[in-house]
Amino acid sequence: KEIVLTGITTSGTPHLGNYVGAIRPAIEASRQEDNDAYFFLADYHALIKCQDPARVQQSRQEIAATWLACGLDPEKVTFYRQSDVPEIAELNWLLTCVTAKGLMNRAHAYKGAVDANTADNQDPDFGITMGLFCYPILMAADILAFNANKVPVGRDQIQHIEMARDIAGRFNHLFGEHFVLPEAVVGEEGSILKGLDGRKMSKSYNNTIPLFETEKKLQKGINKIKTNLLEPGEPKDPNDSTVFDIYKAFATPEQTEQMRKHFAEGIAWGEAKKELFKLVNDQLAEPREKYLELMANPAHVEQVLQAGGEKARVHARKRIADLRSAVGLVNFK
Ligand code: ATP
Repeated sequence: KEIVLTGITTSGTPHLGNYVGAIRPAIEASRQEDNDAYFFLADYHALIKCQDPARVQQSRQEIAATWLACGLDPEKVTFYRQSDVPEIAELNWLLTCVTAKGLMNRAHAYKGAVDANTADNQDPDFGITMGLFCYPILMAADILAFNANKVPVGRDQIQHIEMARDIAGRFNHLFGEHFVLPEAVVGEEGSILKGLDGRKMSKSYNNTIPLFETEKKLQKGINKIKTNLLEPGEPKDPNDSTVFDIYKAFATPEQTEQMRKHFAEGIAWGEAKKELFKLVNDQLAEPREKYLELMANPAHVEQVLQAGGEKARVHARKRIADLRSAVGLVNFK
């Protein structure tokens, strides 16, 4: 049986990119009978980027309600908060002790931060915490705690899955075959949605269109998407348009072809955005209602997560017990 694992960092409000790139495909896949799905709120990860407790807390609630509103069935999948499974933190340490520093030196997130500092004439390590530096190890722990073999990710995360394989391989080499080497499952080309400013839509860039804002705010968000200065009547390039990309992510192939034609005919940006709003809003209206109900009932969501955390721990406890004895942390007899 395949074990599939998906997490979302609880560092802000979930957005259309999270939905299209992670939540929607993960829930669809979990409806197939042939896999065990693990969905988690990556709240330890959130602490790397976000030192605002109120934001982390709010985000945990929003992301939990989002998963449930989008149709996640907590009876069928294992749905939990990372921080409710302390075995993940313990595994993180066991893995840290077999991970070469040189491997972490090559991680994109760390290298990106160093490059940005160098470009600003700062000390290369300015503002970089050990959390950021070692974050691929925590991600490996998330995956290996459950021996997940399929990890759906965006292209930017492929390197981290490769690192998880390296780390698992190293541990297996030293202590015996404990871990299955995970594989990245990468969405189709173009599945990364761009945000309002044209960069990847991301909670950390403040360029998102939130998933379950009010209708009015959704419309406002869509109206803020950056477009070029082409006038109505001038043909527009669908291959270079955030409006088109988001439309495509929600549309049927027929609707997408229709929109492609409208672009060639020079649809006005205002009109294209109106169409986009209609399409997205129709699909989100029902889950939005559910989301609001769940946000108004945190005790219910808490109960679901606690049960999920227990379910996750049953597996993680067993694994960590095996690993402790593999590395020499065994009770005296
Ligand atoms: P952060 O800025 O905190 O990293 P994020 O908004 O970029 O957050 P993550 O929580 O890191 O998102 O990612 C959760 C999931 O959502 C991942 O599977 C990721 O691939 C997917 N995802 C995030 N942003 C996008 C996007 N713009 N388009 C498609 N998928 C995305």
